[in-house]
Amino acid sequence: MSSDYTGSSAAYARQEAGYREKALKIYPWVCGRCSREFVYSNLRELTVHHVDHDHTNNPQDGSNWELLCLFCHDHEHEKYTDADNGQGSVIRAGEDDHQAATFNPFADLKAMMANKK
Ligand SMILES: [Zn+2]
Ligand SMILES: [Zn+2]
Repeated sequence: MSSDYTGSSAAYARQEAGYREKALKIYPWVCGRCSREFVYSNLRELTVHHVDHDHTNNPQDGSNWELLCLFCHDHEHEKYTDADNGQGSVIRAGEDDHQAATFNPFADLKAMMANKK
């Protein structure tokens, strides 16, 4: 069952492009967790989260979408992974909204920790 997610990433990328655009039209460009506001120049840091974590569930009224910034989106999935004993990694593999963003808030942190050792 989980192989369906990783095996069709191209199809998901197409589908994702559609629902991201729709979600950005329906909702204000504000993170649903930390209320950070977004504009065109940093819009790539605003991602579309699926409330039920099912990326195939994309109702046209947007009821399964939530706009989250990268920080809050990562946090949301960490919670889910903890609760579900590692199953969350399967979901993340098919989640192209993470890949769409080139900004990595943890890159510097990783470098800093490497320097300390
Ligand atoms: Zn946020
Ligand atoms: Zn998500």
